[in-house]
Amino acid sequence: MKIAVPKEIKNHEYRVALTPTGVRELVECGHQVTVEASAGEGSGFPDGDYQAAGADIEQDIDTLWRSAELIVKVKEPQPDEVARLGEGQTLFTYLHLAAEENLTRGLMESGATCIAYETITDRDGGLPLLAPMSRVAGRMAVQAGAHSLEKAQGGSGVLLPGVPGVAPASVTVIGGGVVGENAARMALGLGAEVSVLDKSLARLEVLDHRYQGRLRTVYSTSDALDEAIHRSDLIIGAVLVPGAAAPKLITRGQLGEMRPGSVLVDVAIDQGGCFETSKATTHAEPTYVVDGIVHYCVANMPGAVARTSTQALTNATLPFVIALAQKGWKQALADDPHFLAGLNVHAGKIAHPAVAEAFGLEN
Ligand code: NAD
Repeated sequence: MKIAVPKEIKNHEYRVALTPTGVRELVECGHQVTVEASAGEGSGFPDGDYQAAGADIEQDIDTLWRSAELIVKVKEPQPDEVARLGEGQTLFTYLHLAAEENLTRGLMESGATCIAYETITDRDGGLPLLAPMSRVAGRMAVQAGAHSLEKAQGGSGVLLPGVPGVAPASVTVIGGGVVGENAARMALGLGAEVSVLDKSLARLEVLDHRYQGRLRTVYSTSDALDEAIHRSDLIIGAVLVPGAAAPKLITRGQLGEMRPGSVLVDVAIDQGGCFETSKATTHAEPTYVVDGIVHYCVANMPGAVARTSTQALTNATLPFVIALAQKGWKQALADDPHFLAGLNVHAGKIAHPAVAEAFGLEN
């Protein structure tokens, strides 16, 4: 199969969909992989490494897209990329369509088959292609939050671990899934006092067992959120309702109840954000202040640590890319109901129930 790996064009996106190691696996299976010139540079993989792995390097973007049967990317296609997509092509990438009506309509009009990394499931009910980036984003959320608490960033001037004789900061993580657990682990490692709120008792039980009383687990209710707002120096939003827009859990009115200079890190911003005052930011200008509260809402956090992220992403996507290349999308999805859950748009129609519901459309 002819597989194309374009260079990512979203602002400050340095990841690439496949490492040279991943390319070699595909080439050894007999597939033709074409990588856009300098696509891997931001992750520290020069064109020569791809050529050594058996890829062709293409300078011309039109040729790259036109000749591909399967296009493998990282971020949702930007308008220029949507315009290049056509019938008969398969796009395999993160899409996050529930919060993006224009993109959804563009993909429907393209006629292409669009499979989203983030809605593929696994046997345990997890999201195996969201998980590697969630681990990265969860760990980064604490770094970003700690930095944002500094005075020069508009923060309250609190050091997460405190020092002997001064209490540590209070960190609340809303959503104890993959992002939330990784954030909690980092915050604990830095010596903060950590609470995790979740709607899933099963998840809270896993965390309670795993961390042996070192973190507070709290069932997520409006009362629990009120309490978290009053006590926390840093709140990390890490909720997910798969395929749907994130629920708004903290309103603008509640910001006044937080200590001035406290920080909200909204990792769920790629699903529309879980705080009413969240709006997507970039690594160029990651934070802004509303009513004295610092907001960090970068939609592609893992892009900042591109090398680690690219390697982690390829490890997770490669078996699926190989299945698409070996069998074609129809057979690959027919053979695996968890892979089928990744199908978001096909032949002009939305193919994922939660995405269709988000726009009041039928699938
Ligand atoms: P996950 O499914 O592993 O965990 C989500 C958790 O949220 C679950 O445990 C669920 O029970 C809980 N939850 C749902 N509704 C809740 C509510 N109302 N109150 C409390 N808990 C609730 O998902 P994840 O992989 O941890 O991802 C979390 C979010 O982070 C997603 O929106 C994902 O898209 C996003 N994400 C963003 C970036 C970024 O760069 N900004 C990177 C990776 C992931």
